[in-house]
Amino acid sequence: MFLKTFGCCRKVYNLMLSDKIESYKSTGKFAVVTPAKYKKDYPYLKEVDSLALANVQLNLQDAFGSCFSKSRKTNNGFPKFKSAKRSRKSYTTNCQYPKTSNKLKQPTIRLDDKSIILPKVGVVKAVIHRKPLDGWMLKSATVSMDGDGKFYVSCLFEYEGLITLNSSTDKVLGLDYKSDGLYMDSDGNVGSNHKYYRESHVKLAKAQRKLKHKTIGSNNYRKQQLRINRIHKHIVNQRLENLHILSTKIANSYDVVCVESLGIRSMSNKGFGNGKATMDNGYGMFLKMLEYKLTDRGKRYIKVDKWFPSTQLCSCCGSRKKLALNERIYKCSCGLTINRDLNAAINIRNEGLRILQSA
Ligand SMILES: [Zn+2]
Repeated sequence: MFLKTFGCCRKVYNLMLSDKIESYKSTGKFAVVTPAKYKKDYPYLKEVDSLALANVQLNLQDAFGSCFSKSRKTNNGFPKFKSAKRSRKSYTTNCQYPKTSNKLKQPTIRLDDKSIILPKVGVVKAVIHRKPLDGWMLKSATVSMDGDGKFYVSCLFEYEGLITLNSSTDKVLGLDYKSDGLYMDSDGNVGSNHKYYRESHVKLAKAQRKLKHKTIGSNNYRKQQLRINRIHKHIVNQRLENLHILSTKIANSYDVVCVESLGIRSMSNKGFGNGKATMDNGYGMFLKMLEYKLTDRGKRYIKVDKWFPSTQLCSCCGSRKKLALNERIYKCSCGLTINRDLNAAINIRNEGLRILQSA
């Protein structure tokens, strides 16, 4: 049923997109199209969750909206057709609640201890990672299938809560991006180490070598591909866990966290010669986690301008000098000798504090 719904969503998306394009060719305007229109020609669309199809319509509208509006930052260009092989396998359905206007006796999506109830699908055995608290209202559920062949469902809840603002600025931390180890903080701690996924990477390389000896398209090839995808997924999970642990720890123990806004420096890795380390250390995601976790706790997350010369200033006397990329130690005429990244992290902390106090 899940696979069928993924397929139907893709079908409806492509039908609507092609109809929009056709209408533009004949009338000069993109017609408004709805999924209901296709149910006659493709009766199997009636068999899947209609709200999933309705959400496809909204997604397509969004895609058109962001394509033609100039104000939006995210412009991905004209909507493209979804391919059966490459498109992400997922659908989103909304939870409906009993009202006087409908005949529902209970919400259409419900969570149990070891299962979830979804519209048109029914009870599905599931591992529930986290229980919703009292007063949380289930809004929607997104079902997806990953490369590892497993199904996932993520539930969106709405709840009201008060965030009490923490005005203390006692504990301030500065973070400097580090290509080999996520970050260096102003207390001298280095973020992550890649130690514990190195083992997985060895496994991955081995599995990928094995794939080469299988016939493309054969059953054994497919099985080996699945094994590789599972290891990939495992690595992704390990990395995410690490980012969550670090960001939660920081958000719990500091009042204000100052970071450098993400710029070119952290994107490309010129001069370091280890592009791979940057690509997979997930600093951007780490900052997003840190931002929402601090906001949740009523604490401050401060972005320092990406042009702020954090590496060039002396964190002790404030004098400025250029540092070559391979110089790991900052030596100042005032007598300060300090690790380059630590110096930058302290500068970011001081600058963040200045921004906070001048605001
Ligand atoms: Zn100095």
